[in-house]
Amino acid sequence: MRFDTVIMVDWSGGNDRGPTPKADAIWASVARGGRAEEARYLRNRQEAEDCIADLLEAERARGNRVMIGFDFPFGYPRGFAQALTGRADPFAVWDWFEENVQDSARGNNRFDLAGQINRQLGGRGPFWGNALARDIDGLPRRKDDYHNPLPDRRAAEHQAKGAFTCWQMSGAGAVGSQVIMGLPVLARLRRRFGASVWPFETLSSDIAIVEIWPSLTLGAAPEGRIKDAWQVEEVARAVSALEPEALAEMLDVEAPEEGWIFGLGFEDRLRRAAALPPRLSNSCFALPPGVHWTPVAEALEMLKARLAPVTEVVELPTAEAVGHVIADDVTAARSNPPLPNTAVDGYGFAGGRDAGVHVLPLAGARAAAGDAPGHVPAGEAIRILTGAALPAGVDTVVLQEDVTLQDTQIAFRGPVRQGANTRKTGEDVVAGERAVASGVRIGAAQAALLAATGVRDVRVRRPLRVAVVSTGAELVDVGTSARDGQIFDANRPMLLEMVRRFGHRAIDMGIVPDDRAVLRTVLDRAAQDADVVITSGGASAGDEDHVSALLKEAGAMSLWRVAVKPGRPLALGMWQGAPVFGLPGNPVAAMVCALVFARPAMAQLAGEAWPEAQGFDVPAAFSKNKKPGRSEFLRARLRDGHAEVFASEGSGRISGLAWAEGLVELPQEAVEVTPGTMVRYIPFGSFGL
Ligand code: AMP
Ligand code: MG
Repeated sequence: MRFDTVIMVDWSGGNDRGPTPKADAIWASVARGGRAEEARYLRNRQEAEDCIADLLEAERARGNRVMIGFDFPFGYPRGFAQALTGRADPFAVWDWFEENVQDSARGNNRFDLAGQINRQLGGRGPFWGNALARDIDGLPRRKDDYHNPLPDRRAAEHQAKGAFTCWQMSGAGAVGSQVIMGLPVLARLRRRFGASVWPFETLSSDIAIVEIWPSLTLGAAPEGRIKDAWQVEEVARAVSALEPEALAEMLDVEAPEEGWIFGLGFEDRLRRAAALPPRLSNSCFALPPGVHWTPVAEALEMLKARLAPVTEVVELPTAEAVGHVIADDVTAARSNPPLPNTAVDGYGFAGGRDAGVHVLPLAGARAAAGDAPGHVPAGEAIRILTGAALPAGVDTVVLQEDVTLQDTQIAFRGPVRQGANTRKTGEDVVAGERAVASGVRIGAAQAALLAATGVRDVRVRRPLRVAVVSTGAELVDVGTSARDGQIFDANRPMLLEMVRRFGHRAIDMGIVPDDRAVLRTVLDRAAQDADVVITSGGASAGDEDHVSALLKEAGAMSLWRVAVKPGRPLALGMWQGAPVFGLPGNPVAAMVCALVFARPAMAQLAGEAWPEAQGFDVPAAFSKNKKPGRSEFLRARLRDGHAEVFASEGSGRISGLAWAEGLVELPQEAVEVTPGTMVRYIPFGSFGL
């Protein structure tokens, strides 16, 4: 069972909540592939029904399968449907309410309907709780003078601790009103979209409507967040992250009349799916207002402050974890070395010796690497080989080259310091201390350290998935034929390889012509399959700059005018919860911007510590008169300790990129470079290439 899109709705039986977002209104969040969009605030039911219908239309138009959840019971306790409608069919109840509920911005008749049903069923139940000033015949205000002719709870509510019954119409936590005011909407959505309703029907439609209850797995919202908004985001995120098999198992429920709460009985699994990092906000790339050119350092500070890891944590055996980013500090399971041992081949004994000649009898055995440590009597020496654990009675080793071996004794000249040529327990790493910090990508050296310190499993982040898209009507793939006016796509092979070198998973999304509808579809797909999207081309504000136009339309774009050369504006934005780096089309600018901005940003999204590209100052082998106002990155390489730069600064010169082995970074101020002037050189290696 697989859904492309998960929509979760926190419903409300109350009145219009006004224009500013508030609790106890209706909130809806859309999630795909474990990532949820910011919850939408829906002030009243009419607005909510319209918004949900629009969402469903749009998803259907894109060919997506949708699961939409509502947080109120879809059915009543057993017997109610029969008593109310003469049929034990939950949809008969839906139809009854759709026909009888009157709902408008001015008010609704829910308490009157509850009273009417009670009168029909004997006069003192099943509904109770009247929040109106006027009395309603048959609807008790409190539970004391109440008699329920039907079961108090559904089977689901017996199992779900803390769930309210659907008979209670008012008071804190009551859900009775939500059900009455929600079922007509569900009835209409079901009919209009031909949706399947769980668990009453087989889920044959591309739209499945399910009952949810966020409190099943969620506790209190983080400080400063509206609980309803936070909850729908979390539930949508978790459900959209479920494996198809898990989802199928959770949906396999038999509850023909009363319905069921999705996930009930699978709380742990849902919680695990929810243990994802929090989503990024749509405003994470917003720049301070005012038109100015942001200095590089300021732009980087902003990215660093706003981006957070988006990849889930998994536990892997150490051998399989190589190449992944460590999620939590790793503690050494064993000291390195685990026991004191010898650093050389020689003879071991106890204590140092002063100047002069020393003769020691040899103990019988020898100690080699891998031997369990034995024992050497006081005053004797033992033949010992590099890496052997020191036997009891040995704390000092003399090099074999410094020893004369005579039958059963050795002679050597002092002085020898106590502890000479030995390694102490834990002198490298002590068991229980941190071996490798979180945020480090496990490379060769870390693999050695984790193994040496006996770490069997590590908690790491799954790889960041980065979709790479080239945009431009002029582009064709190399290997195909190019008409006059067309050029081969150079950025995509470059960016795909850069992404891989950075340690992420690259996803090739191909070329998109300058066509907004096509680009929209590709961005949709990219945001679904990847965590980050990198585009090149179309990032400025011209007629054919569709990347920036679309991101702007989505309301989540900032045109970053960074004071840097090469590099026209960068379009940074969010597309359906995924950050998008809209790089300039020019290959030189695309590469420099990817190295300087996208690389550290993606590292942070992947859970890595923010990487500072380390450079060093070397004398220049070139001359340049640089004007003030922006930083400049020149294609450069080191020869004879001097930084050379590529002969042409032309930003279309890809040959210069291929020639270079690094970049020279010139500061924002004016500088006059002549041969011998110290300049900052950053090798490509420092950029992760
Ligand atoms: P744009 O940013 O779309 O205005 O493109 C700026 C320049 O970069 C134009 O000359 C484009 O033809 C060129 N360009 C854009 N994308 C690519 C690409 N993928 N490979 C090579 N050149 C490109
Ligand atoms: Mg273009």
